[in-house]
Amino acid sequence: MNTQERWHGAMQNNYGTPTITLVRGDGVEVWDDEERRYLDFLGGIATNILGHSHPAIVKAVSSQIRELSHVSNLYAHKPGVELAEKLRDMTNDPSARIFFCNSGAEANEAAIKISRLTGRTQIIAALGAFHGRTTGALSITGQEGKRRPFEPLLPDVRFVPYGDVKAMSRAVSKKTALVILEAIQGENGVVVPPIGYLKAVRELCDTKGALFAIDAVQTGMGRTGEWFGFESEGIAPDVITLAKGLGGGLPLGAMITLGKRVPAFKPGEHGSTFGGNPISCAAANAAVDHLVKRDLLWKVAQAGEFLKAELSMIGGVQEVRGRGLLLGIVLDSNVATELANKAASHGLLLNAPNKNVIRIAPALVVSKAQLKEFVKIFAKSLGEVLNG
Ligand SMILES: *Cc1c(COP(=O)(O)O)cnc(C)c1O
Repeated sequence: MNTQERWHGAMQNNYGTPTITLVRGDGVEVWDDEERRYLDFLGGIATNILGHSHPAIVKAVSSQIRELSHVSNLYAHKPGVELAEKLRDMTNDPSARIFFCNSGAEANEAAIKISRLTGRTQIIAALGAFHGRTTGALSITGQEGKRRPFEPLLPDVRFVPYGDVKAMSRAVSKKTALVILEAIQGENGVVVPPIGYLKAVRELCDTKGALFAIDAVQTGMGRTGEWFGFESEGIAPDVITLAKGLGGGLPLGAMITLGKRVPAFKPGEHGSTFGGNPISCAAANAAVDHLVKRDLLWKVAQAGEFLKAELSMIGGVQEVRGRGLLLGIVLDSNVATELANKAASHGLLLNAPNKNVIRIAPALVVSKAQLKEFVKIFAKSLGEVLNG
C-alpha cells in the first residue's frame, strides 16, 4: 500500500487525501517520496519563516531538547521569558504582556475569553474572516459554510463587511466587548482593506469602549515586511494574536495584550499545558534572531514589490494583492485549482484559497534566484492552463 492508501485507511477525511507525500525539505525546496523536487511557495501555510531544516532552527531545537524539554507552566524557563520579552519589545509597548498557546485558534480563544472580562459579551468580526476551527474561534469566523454544520456556536457575534467603515460604525456599540480583524484577510484570498480602515476601526472602538484585536496569525512575524502587518496603519490594537510563523515551523501561538484598557487574566483564569514550551520557544527565538541579524524584514518588503511587478505582467493575471511575502494572485478566470495542480506537476507548490486566487507565502529567506524560478514556473503553468 502506498502512503495515500494508508492515509485513507487511517486518517479522518477532513483534509481529503493529499496527493503528494513529502519526505524531506531544505530551505525553500522539498522532495516527495519519488524524489521529485518542488519549490515550496506555501511554506506550510505561512509557517516556515526560515524554510525547512534551517541550521539555526535545527541547532536551537536540538540543544534545547537535550537540555530541558517540557516543564508545564508551573515552572519558569528561559526560552519562554526571552521570547515574551522579544514580542513585548516588538510592540514598542512596555506594558504588553504575552500568553503562549499552541495554535492560532487557541490564541483567538484567549482573546475571546479576555474580552469577556470587560463585562460585555458582543463580538464583531468581518465577513470572510478566518480565525480558526475550535468552537470559539469558529464562532467568529466569517464564513457561513464553515460554521453552519456546527451551530449553535457562541451567541452575540455579529459580522460586517471587511473594509467598510460605515458598516462597522453601525455595528460597534457600548455593548461591544471585542472587534477582531485580520490586518489582511489571508484565507479569504489575501484581501487587503482600504488604507485608513484599521485606524477608523481603532477610533470607533475607542469611542465605544470596545477592545480591538488584530489577528496577526498569518500576517505576523515579518511576513508583510513588518512584524505584525498593521504597523503601517499607525495604530496599536489592544490585543494581537499570533501563531503560524511564530514558532519557526514548530507549533506555537501567542496572545499579546497591550495598552491600558485591556483586562488581564488573574492566576487560574486561563492556561495551556504545552503552550509556550521550551522547545517551540527556542525555535521562535532562533527565528526572530535570524530575521533581525540578516535584516530580513526589509528584504521581505522588497521581494513583495519585485513579485508584484513581475507577476502583473503575466497574461491571465488580473491583480496582485497583499504585502511582502503574503500575496494573492488574482486570475482573470476561475482556474486557480487547476493552476495549482499544474504548477505542482512542474515542481512548484502553490495554494488556491478560492476559485480565482492563488496564494503564496514562501519562507522569508527565499532568494532572488528562487523568486525568479517561481515566476518562470508560474507563468509557464498558467499559460498551459489557459491554452489547454
Ligand atoms: C491559520 C489562521 C488561524 C488558525 O490558526 P491554527 O493554528 O490553524 O489554529 C487563525 N487566524 C488566521 C488569520 C489564520 O490565518
